[in-house]
Parts: sequence; C-alpha cells; structure tokens
Amino acid sequence: MASDAPTQAPPLTDAHGRRISYLRISVTDRCDLRCRYCMSEKMQFLPRRDILSFEEIDAIAGAFVERGVRKIRLTGGEPLVRGGVMDLVRMLGRHRENGDLDELTMTTNATRLAEHAEALVDAGVRRVNVSLDTRDPETFRYITRWGEIGRTLDGIAAAKAAGLRVKINMVGLKGLNDREIVPMMRWCADEGHDLTLIETMPLGQIDDDRHDRYLPLDAVQRDLEDRFTLVPLMERTGGPARYWNVGELGLKLGLITPLTNNFCAGCNRVRITVSGKIYMCLGHDDHLDLKTALREGGREALDRVLDQAMILKPLAHDFAIRADNAEPAVSRHMSVTGG
Ligand code: SAM
Ligand code: SF4
Repeated sequence: MASDAPTQAPPLTDAHGRRISYLRISVTDRCDLRCRYCMSEKMQFLPRRDILSFEEIDAIAGAFVERGVRKIRLTGGEPLVRGGVMDLVRMLGRHRENGDLDELTMTTNATRLAEHAEALVDAGVRRVNVSLDTRDPETFRYITRWGEIGRTLDGIAAAKAAGLRVKINMVGLKGLNDREIVPMMRWCADEGHDLTLIETMPLGQIDDDRHDRYLPLDAVQRDLEDRFTLVPLMERTGGPARYWNVGELGLKLGLITPLTNNFCAGCNRVRITVSGKIYMCLGHDDHLDLKTALREGGREALDRVLDQAMILKPLAHDFAIRADNAEPAVSRHMSVTGG
C-alpha cells in the first residue's frame, strides 16, 4: 500500500452542493439471519479474498474523516459476525477520542450484542440501532427464517445496561407486523428506546414478493395521528428519517419513507461496501472502486476516486415497488451496503 500521509484535499461536497459528513461502512456482507425482505435463503456471499482488511477499512475511513466526515456507522450484513470486529471498532474509536468524529455507531441485529455491548462503550460508541421487526417469537422466527428472539432481546437489554442508547428499527410488513406497531411503540417507550419504522425498499432479489408485504407508512402515520398526538421534531439527520414526539408515550418516533416521500434533497451520506466499493446513493447501482485505488495508488489515488464520487452522486433515488414484482430497482441487497 502506498503512503497514507494526510492530504490537503478539500471537504467532500457533491455536485449539488451537499456536504458529505456521514459515512456508512459495511464490514461484512454475511449475516447469521436471513430476514425475508433483506435476503434470499441461499445467498452468495463474497469470497474472503475480495474483502477489505481492517487496516484497509481504517485507511479509507481515515481519508473520509480528514475530508470532513463527522459520523461513521458500521453496518453489514451483521457487523458483529465478522471475527475480531471489535479491533476495527477500537481503531475507528481513536477519531472519537481526538475529536475528529462526532459519532461512531453501529446497526446490528443484536444476536451477539450481549457479548460486545461493554466493549462498544469502551471504544467510544454511544448509540446503536437494532433491528427488531416483531416481539412475537414465532413471527420473529418466520421473518428471520431461524432467529431466536431471546438472543436479540438479551442483546438489547445488555446494550441498555451498558449505557448504550438504543434505537429500534422496525420494517413495516403488511399482514406480518402491522398490528404490532402500537405495542412496539409502547414497549420502546417503557424501555426508553427510540423507534423508527422503515418502508421496505426494492433492493436485491429475494424469495418473497415484496409487493405483498409492502406497508406504505404514510397510511400508518395517518392511523397513528388519529390515536396519538404526533409532534413533529425539527431534527433532521441528513437522511430519510423524519421524527415525531409521541405526546402520550414520551416516545421519539422516526419514519423512513423512501417510497411515499422522497428524502434526497438534504442527503449527506455515502456508503462503502466490504469489498471497497463506494456507493453514492442507496437507490442506484452506480459505484466506484476504492479498494483498487488504495491498493495500487495509495492516498492520492483514493482522493481522486472520492472527488469523482462527489461529481457522480445523483440528486435523488428512483425507488418504486412494482406490483408485477419485476426486477428490483437496485440489484444489490441491502446487506451489501447496509441500509
Ligand atoms: N444486520 C444489521 C441489522 O439488521 O440491523 C445491519 C444491516 S441491515 C441490512 C440494516 C437495516 O436495513 C435493518 O434495519 C434492516 O431491517 C433494514 N433492511 C434490510 N433490507 C431492507 C429492505 N429491503 N428495505 C428496507 N429496509 C431493509
Ligand atoms: Fe441480516 Fe440485518 Fe439483513 Fe436481517 S436485515 S438478514 S439481520 S443483514
């Protein structure tokens, strides 16, 4: 690998004037579950030789931090299934320690969170997002194909005990968990967790028909407004979520509605995969190769690819869930870029 000395390259700003301050890193495309809306049962995962080492991920992340990224989220696949992943979390944690990063976070299914919660806190992580689409053991097993709800709930409890703030991510699935939305809101409020509801997005071929399970969240929002006082919060994170405070419950509720609401104007993020590809938009397949740049040209080559990525970042995604279950809008699975 060539020199990784700091460069004078400017902060990352795309061709539409959006500052890129948020990086999501998929640390593995593998997972110990197979959520039906995310993966097919038999997935082809990347061969190990194609994936970035922790040192390479750290070098790429460091380049982003020097160019103005203030927040990093580790995701996957399931980040906690990658062997030794805490070494990477600690490496990245030094940017938190020296003040170059405002936040280092993780999105996880929590099956292994109980083992790692305290080490995450020690490494500078303060918040985690946990996927929990249902609290019913059988529905959980059905959605994840073989998951044990107990492990996930234990992981969430351990995170809370370790002092991590938890946000629950719940993908709305018509006929599977729509009746659980209000009970989930109450449980999150009681436990002190935030809750974000997510619309299924057409990413990657799966075995099920996404259209059958598609739950438009604008309708869910109208139902909730009939039952609760939803006070809009001005907070925007540069992403797809809009937030409300649910007066009666004291719950912070987020809605991620890429299909019923376009969220792109204030987009501040890019994503890298574990094979070193940078995706400028979750809703497009266009990407550039950071791994080859890093391996063959070092930091200068990396900066050139980042500059090119800023020119290519599209203004908006073009998602749609089609009734004919045609090819998904984007061929890669969510587990490749990690949401
Ligand atoms: N394995 C971790 C987890 O489940 O939290 C991290 C990776 S997972 C791909 C990140 C988030 O994407 C999860 O909240 C998951 O529910 C969501 N997700 C996966 N596939 C999706 C899809 N097609 N549409 C919407 N959300 C999806
Ligand atoms: Fe795994 Fe997360 Fe995808 Fe579920 S949503 S299959 S836990 S990567």
